[in-house]
Amino acid sequence: MVATQPGGASTRAAYEPVIGLEVHVQLKTRSKMFCGCERDYFDAEPNSHVCAVCLGMPGMLPVINEQAVAFTILAGLAIGCEIPAHAKFDRKNYPYPDLVKGYQISQYDQPLCLGGTLEIEADGVTRAVQIERIHLEEDTARLLHRDGANGDAYSLIDVNRSGVPLMELVTRPDMHSAAEAMAFLRTLRQVLRYVGVSDADMEKGSFRCDANVSLRPTGTEALGNKVEVKNMNSFRAVGRALEFEIERQARVLSEGGRVAQETRGYIDATGATVSQRSKEEAHDYRYFPEPDLPPLEVSRETIAELRARLPELPAARRERFVAQFGLTRDEARQLVETREGAAAFEETVALTGTERAREVAHWFIGDVTRLLGTLDADAQLADSPLTPAHLAELVALVADRAITAATAKEVLQAAFESGDLPSVIVDARGLRQINDDAEIDRVAAEVIEANPQAVADYRGGKEAAVKFLVGQVMRAMRGRADPNGATEALVRRLRA
Ligand code: ADP
Ligand code: ZN
Ligand code: MG
Repeated sequence: MVATQPGGASTRAAYEPVIGLEVHVQLKTRSKMFCGCERDYFDAEPNSHVCAVCLGMPGMLPVINEQAVAFTILAGLAIGCEIPAHAKFDRKNYPYPDLVKGYQISQYDQPLCLGGTLEIEADGVTRAVQIERIHLEEDTARLLHRDGANGDAYSLIDVNRSGVPLMELVTRPDMHSAAEAMAFLRTLRQVLRYVGVSDADMEKGSFRCDANVSLRPTGTEALGNKVEVKNMNSFRAVGRALEFEIERQARVLSEGGRVAQETRGYIDATGATVSQRSKEEAHDYRYFPEPDLPPLEVSRETIAELRARLPELPAARRERFVAQFGLTRDEARQLVETREGAAAFEETVALTGTERAREVAHWFIGDVTRLLGTLDADAQLADSPLTPAHLAELVALVADRAITAATAKEVLQAAFESGDLPSVIVDARGLRQINDDAEIDRVAAEVIEANPQAVADYRGGKEAAVKFLVGQVMRAMRGRADPNGATEALVRRLRA
């Protein structure tokens, strides 16, 4: 028996959360899973990407989309899955209006990928999450629930999504906090985007997650009753749903209760989960091998060819950046966030030389990220007027003391707005740094003359007062003075 008190942090500490995730990923193929309809329906009219196959007309025969099979194997190889030589499709039967055929073609006991691991980092701790399997199936149609003018509820159906290739990844129950679950999802999304098999966008529904969570007394092994939570459509929602469930189950257990094995839905407006159906009401899917499709044979040559197509993955790229460019792991992590961003960084370093890699990294992580963020959340360098050539020039101008760091920020902003090269902006605006000692000394003298209070402070022992005076020199010289030269000139005069 574990000593607990109802509610509060001590109750939570008495239990260890155990979390396993089921992630559905729409694959970015050209056509749908079993027919020739265009897969991308995002901006399409409802029911415009449909045919007799994906509408579920009787007698229509499915044809396997090879690209979807290849994408699933690529994803599996990226996370170290085993690819069995034989796989097959199965029929999963359940009655629901979004399932136009009355069944879904999925994979039951012979999926395309088995095992694998994904390494995640949460709260400074690294953990290898084991993957159970990845299988391939088809997405369902979309139901849109509406309220009529007279208060009657009704539903509309959009079949565009029906038959879109859907990959389902199931993890082992290896995560132990909401933060770890979110880190897993972020890491998985990043890998899938690197490999190029999915947009993996939760808000757009191409990346969806059901979270299974149970609690067990801290220090014990046996798994407790699990609850499956559905309906989250953002990473934040997954985190909130899990926090809520962990809190709720801890309260039930600490009060001597038993957690019911059930499916619960997450309500975004309140952050709560509500019971949807108990395990006793679980469907019997009556799986059987899909009679309209041949089994899949995956040759070792196919696997070797696909493996050769894998790009360098984020974790490997991060470690290479640390070793090759002398960056911190944290800097490298930010630079490899997206494949496009990492490539743009490397292209810039190729122009400046590796010895300037740190400066390039600082620009990318700082001002470039900030400027791209003003376009939209996912904006890449290529979406802006900036190119690696712009950034390489900017870094060279600062390194050659042609412009000050303060001026460089202004130049970058102007380049971002106009697309002009930094050297052109510097010349057009007369921004070249003044390295002329006599000129700086003359301005330093004026600043000292005009700021007796700061001068008195400095001479009275407040060394920091010199910073203010340097700022005044920079201002008088419109940011173009060499700041080191300005500091030296001021200190020389103040001590005189
Ligand atoms: P089900 O038969 O209910 O579908 P599975 O064994 O297939 O359950 O597991 C589904 C998901 O639930 C997996 O991600 C798995 O890791 C996770 N899971 C299984 N048991 C537990 C548990 N006791 N606590 C938390 N997660 C669990
Ligand atoms: Zn179709
Ligand atoms: Mg299951």
